[in-house]
Amino acid sequence: MNIVVQKFGGTSVRNLECQRQVLQKVLRPYREGNKVIVVLSAMTGETNRLLDLANEWTDNPDPAEVDSILSTGEQVSCALFALLLKQQGISARSVLGFQVPIRTDSTFGKARIIDIDVDNNKLTKMLKEHDILVVAGFQGCDENQRVTTLGRGGSDTSAVALAAAVKADICEIYTDVPGVFTTDPNMCTEARKIDRIAYDEMLEMASMGAKVLQIRSVEFAKKYNVTVHVRSTFSNEPGTIVMQEDETMEAVLVSGIAYDKDQARITLEHVTDTPGVSAQIFTPLADKMILVDMIVQNPSKDGKTDMTFTVPRSDVQQTIKVLEKLQYEIGFEKLSSNLNVSKISIIGVGMRNHSGVAARAFQALADENVNILMISTSEIKVTCLIDDKYTELAVRTLHKAFHLDEGEPLEKL
Ligand code: ASP
Ligand code: MG
Repeated sequence: MNIVVQKFGGTSVRNLECQRQVLQKVLRPYREGNKVIVVLSAMTGETNRLLDLANEWTDNPDPAEVDSILSTGEQVSCALFALLLKQQGISARSVLGFQVPIRTDSTFGKARIIDIDVDNNKLTKMLKEHDILVVAGFQGCDENQRVTTLGRGGSDTSAVALAAAVKADICEIYTDVPGVFTTDPNMCTEARKIDRIAYDEMLEMASMGAKVLQIRSVEFAKKYNVTVHVRSTFSNEPGTIVMQEDETMEAVLVSGIAYDKDQARITLEHVTDTPGVSAQIFTPLADKMILVDMIVQNPSKDGKTDMTFTVPRSDVQQTIKVLEKLQYEIGFEKLSSNLNVSKISIIGVGMRNHSGVAARAFQALADENVNILMISTSEIKVTCLIDDKYTELAVRTLHKAFHLDEGEPLEKL
């Protein structure tokens, strides 16, 4: 039994006209003789509307009830779409998370999928009885039979997890953009659609804010080796294939440029440089769930050092509050913060085997007089912290420096 999984986002299911276009996409694999699992999001804006309702009723709504409310958005779009399929004479039905069942932990609002129970034969049985199953994205159920949701954008993860569970040939994620781009097209008109991208590159792009796929769905795809095709509902063009890395991908030095403006820099001056001081600084921040990213410690002088790091801009006030309380304990003289910074990254698996990529990026920024405030690197990423007023210039400069605007990314320095 060949199974194709197709997921459609909120803009694709937002009204009857759009759902008719979705129908055309679903009919293609169906007519080719495949069984199809269609995973749908709620109609655009619906999850926000439901969330607002819950917050209007009480200040601090119970998370389990919130999930029960939010999950209705997907329930509606799935049942409506099932109506369209049945009208075509197709054997189809809508399926909710608990009916699959998609089992999750009990972290309401951000639940993690534990497993999709294929062995109990429920899903297999439904697939035998029907040609198309319309499964509600974003939802699951916990061990106490309570409805859970998987976090914003979670329908992507539902789709990839289902594709892994039924060993589907492909997982197509349909959205309102043509695919994954070399950088944000709103920032750089030269941005191009990427044909193929490795899981690790996609993870880096997604964590830097490229919102086409929920990060967890990419983690899932990587873990279970699910090939994901991100493409547009509103055209027939092929989109971007997210897949296991291969040699042709490694030949390309840089695949994409990402940026994150939601950053702030914190410096602790004249920290007493003794063993354990970093733990003293960062443990209380971790306890408050503050995500610290780039960290630089200067060489110490007379037993004192400076410690600089970045946090999301929305966490600055809390970071300052936590650290100022501990000033005496940690032993620093002064805390300063800068909210006008942004992070720019060049991303590419090709960096693993090529040297000089970072140097080229630094030179390109230098030629435009963009000052680099901090640098961090990983195997497949170089990140620079810069003054945020230069974000657009830096993105365009780096995009050009690695020939991403020409559609033939640089393969050699
Ligand atoms: N409807 C949910 C949201 O807006 C899940 C999704 O669309 O993927 O986040
Ligand atoms: Mg989405």
